[in-house]
Amino acid sequence: KKSSIRSVNPYTNEIVREFTEMSAEVIEEKIITAENTFKVWKKTPLNERAKLLHKIAAIMREKRESLAKLATLEMGKLYREALGEVELCAKIFDYYADNGEELLADKPLDPKIGEGYVSYEPLGIHLSVQPWNFPFYQLTRSAAPSVMAGNTVLLKHASNVPQCGLAMEEIFLEAGAPEGLYTNLFVPGRNIESIVADDRIKLVSLTGSEAAGASIAAAAGKYIKRSTLELGGSDPLIVLDDANLDDAVNAAVYGRMHNAGQVCISPKRVIVLREIAEEFEKRAKSIFSSLKVGDPMDAQTQVPPLSSEKAAEEILSQVEKAVAEGATLVSGGKRIDRPGAFIEPTFLKDIKPGNSAYTEEIFGPVFMLYVVKDEAEAIEVANATPFGLGGSIFSNDIIRAKKLAKSIDSGMVFINKVTESLPELPFGGTKKSGYGKELSPAGIYEVVNSKLVYIS
Ligand code: NDP
Repeated sequence: KKSSIRSVNPYTNEIVREFTEMSAEVIEEKIITAENTFKVWKKTPLNERAKLLHKIAAIMREKRESLAKLATLEMGKLYREALGEVELCAKIFDYYADNGEELLADKPLDPKIGEGYVSYEPLGIHLSVQPWNFPFYQLTRSAAPSVMAGNTVLLKHASNVPQCGLAMEEIFLEAGAPEGLYTNLFVPGRNIESIVADDRIKLVSLTGSEAAGASIAAAAGKYIKRSTLELGGSDPLIVLDDANLDDAVNAAVYGRMHNAGQVCISPKRVIVLREIAEEFEKRAKSIFSSLKVGDPMDAQTQVPPLSSEKAAEEILSQVEKAVAEGATLVSGGKRIDRPGAFIEPTFLKDIKPGNSAYTEEIFGPVFMLYVVKDEAEAIEVANATPFGLGGSIFSNDIIRAKKLAKSIDSGMVFINKVTESLPELPFGGTKKSGYGKELSPAGIYEVVNSKLVYIS
């Protein structure tokens, strides 16, 4: 039987390498090792844990070029964006190494009678299921706080980025991590439930699609495990009439094209007030027509292939459906006649309620423009999807923008910037975008038992 775990280079669609799916026996051994390591690691002083995290950051920086090449090879992202991703990972490891000790120190309480404090204690083995779109960042965002907090991690990466998964495990070992602190699992997503069910697994987290999230959350519910979900998004980017237009256009177009549009926090719906819509569209179209599609390793390329042939086909069928349902295709919308999982950067407008694109997430280089008559309609469109991950508002009036930010149903709003992920800022959504926060202080408190100790 063919393994589903393999590297296929989406720039050429050639199979690069295949890996064997792990058997139940192999997984059992890995769980035993992770459990034994947990017993030791939970007692390891915080400064030693921090030292390991700093070392991991240093190794990632040292290997930045080979790691970035691996990401580009397996899922097609621009090499220069992959270099940026590796640096962000190093910063996340450094952040938890620098702040972990303070964040995990006992927190005194102030009860009316007696005294008490909260003690932050590790939970055990953390099963983490992650997607391919940022093949190092997603692993890091999940593992760094968890390992700092004293947990051990079993990481099931997406089946199309196995070499990135292995590389991360090797980095931990090279940094001196004990075996079992961070374990790469080669298991297809559909076989995860039996691992969630295992008593030794104490928490699960997933970043991925709604379907995968629902299935992990159902299993976590059934076996009563702590869970966090980071799912899809269809973030609005609202441009008010007093915005700096060039800044807004650049942020919207380049933000949407980042990682070929395969970003949960990409500004998937650009909502512009009527007064400035014509000028906005003109400038956006002009940037659009200059976008350079090509080899992800080439520094001049702006739009690389999608992560896979399947992804390219899915995005195009979503675009075709949107057009059949009444949207106007301004440009793009076709395959590019060359090998690889390429589609044209695509520009859609006139997307009305009832059109599938009005509510669905499109996980690719598809720019969608909405023109609205006022702020109230901007909010109505912004909140019209089942998702609620991030969102942006462009305006020179910060008070006006902050007021509007309150009306957006999402986990994050950025003013005069596309939604971004930084180590010190909480990341996570609401509605169908999932629950729980990652990164920042909030991210580490998701993966610990905040235990009350009370003295009468
Ligand atoms: P999937 O949800 O299919 O894959 C994500 C991960 O979940 C993979 O490791 C996958 O494993 C695993 N998985 C799939 N099905 C199950 C299941 N039933 N139980 C447990 N794990 C499962 O996502 P796609 O590959 O379709 O990726 C794109 C989607 O993910 C986007 O549409 C976007 O909405 C979402 N996403 C959200 C992000 C966020 O941060 N919120 C970031 C990136 C993507 P396997 O590969 O073996 O199937």
